[in-house]
Amino acid sequence: MSTKEKRILGALLGVHAGDSFGAAHEFETWQAIRARFPPNGAIPRAVTGGGPFGWSPGHATDDTDMTRAVLLAYKDCHSMGADSLSVARVASKHMLQWFYGPWVDRPAGSWPADIGGATTSGLSLLAKTIENSGQVDPRKAGAGHGSCGNGSLMRCIPTALFSEGGDQQRLVEETTLISAVTHNDWRCILACIAYNAMVRALAVDAATPAAAVEAGLEAVTDPQTANSILSILTVDGQRPGQMSTLRDAKDEVVAAIEKARLPGFRVAVLAEEGPHVKIEGDDGAEVEALPLEGRGFVLDSLILAIAAVLDTTRSWEDLIVDVVRVGRDTDTNGAVAGGLVGARDGIDAIPESWLSTLQFREEFTSIANQLMGSEK
Ligand SMILES: [Mg+2]
Repeated sequence: MSTKEKRILGALLGVHAGDSFGAAHEFETWQAIRARFPPNGAIPRAVTGGGPFGWSPGHATDDTDMTRAVLLAYKDCHSMGADSLSVARVASKHMLQWFYGPWVDRPAGSWPADIGGATTSGLSLLAKTIENSGQVDPRKAGAGHGSCGNGSLMRCIPTALFSEGGDQQRLVEETTLISAVTHNDWRCILACIAYNAMVRALAVDAATPAAAVEAGLEAVTDPQTANSILSILTVDGQRPGQMSTLRDAKDEVVAAIEKARLPGFRVAVLAEEGPHVKIEGDDGAEVEALPLEGRGFVLDSLILAIAAVLDTTRSWEDLIVDVVRVGRDTDTNGAVAGGLVGARDGIDAIPESWLSTLQFREEFTSIANQLMGSEK
């Protein structure tokens, strides 16, 4: 297996491993984790399962299940010459399959154990659209502006790895549509675009972490990105929102990325001192690391992942353990960081004892191999 293929697999299974590892601590605060695992929040370095939903070790939570839904779309559309909208439609169908069942080990009519609010309302709206028009249209779904959870960021990685052609516009369009099915707030869409540009730079182009983060910033600030987002989401001449609000969102996402790049912003520091720790800003003034404590805001998850990937002195395992020790939305924060650092370090960096527990290890590996095989 080439080093590029190892990075692609590391990214994909990094999401699953981070999710299944973090699931044991979902919703726990930094303080609670610190108190429960002395000394200083020394959580077990193993995929133990458990958590509030009582997962078996290595079981997928919504992060991995929804990543699977997107991955299956790339498998289905492989070599078919499908355009971005078609890929997003197929991904949407798989998401509905997960939502209503049957899904792998869940019967028809059963609900996912763990599901976010925006995902529930976005997919419910999508189902209603299908009922009314007979068409699966990801542009006519979404939880709306103001719903800025991390539920699309956690599942966006297959586009970075497997979108056809490798051109930037296609990456932006497909990432936009696949986020908008549930999370059409501009910040969610732009966070997914930044993340996927970074993942692609690392996994496919073998960029350094610093260069990859720069690529993410460029993707968000490129004027062409805003045009592509607005045009791909326009349906029947109806624009999805204002350019001015998109610009505001861009500024917010850029500020988040800049914060994660501060030399003092290290996941080891947050894990030791808590999410409210003060970090020295560019202007010398102190800024609070994560005022919302990483409890599900899309930019919190993005910041933690970027801070992790930029710490090149530490291993995938050490970084993901520390991201989870920060607390709150531990499975998703672990998944998002696990994917980005996995794109940096490759599949061999993820402990075999973790990989061997994962519910979809074999399936993800087999689909990735199939999709990568076409590149040779
Ligand atoms: Mg989850």
